[in-house]
Amino acid sequence: MIADEKCAVCKGPIVQKYIPMESWNIKGAMCSACYSKRLGEHYPGEHVRVNLDKK
Ligand SMILES: [Zn+2]
Repeated sequence: MIADEKCAVCKGPIVQKYIPMESWNIKGAMCSACYSKRLGEHYPGEHVRVNLDKK
């Protein structure tokens, strides 16, 4: 079993672990919600792998 980690952004438990990009200046792993959010912020308008329902 993997040691439980906390999201470096929201401090919530990580179910699916995502590694932030270096340019984001985030230390540690991220949860899927924060990762998608960051992706959206950094690549606005670009097609993203994550499914963001209507926003
Ligand atoms: Zn998070």
